[in-house]
Amino acid sequence: MTNNDECAEIGDLLPEFMAGRVSAEDHDRIREHLARCAECRERANAVSLLQHTPVPVPDPDRWEHFVEGVVDSAERRRRLITPLRIWTVLAILVALAVAILLWA
Ligand SMILES: [Zn+2]
Repeated sequence: MTNNDECAEIGDLLPEFMAGRVSAEDHDRIREHLARCAECRERANAVSLLQHTPVPVPDPDRWEHFVEGVVDSAERRRRLITPLRIWTVLAILVALAVAILLWA
């Protein structure tokens, strides 16, 4: 087994190792590997950090307001596209087309 293969295998086992869910045999093997492999030690530290970082739980009130905010902004955007605006855009396009035809 090359060092890279071993590192890949150790990397796969790290989350289970950190959670204490590996066999005694794997546990010793991983500890030995970590003692001599700085790269995997670094990875183990990262896994440990991830496992000890609490997942932020959003405030339920904020979540409710967030959904309301999204719905409001979607409705506001829908109201922006009124028939009057469509006619205004069409009139500008027609005026531009006429200007280009007259100029050519
Ligand atoms: Zn390694």
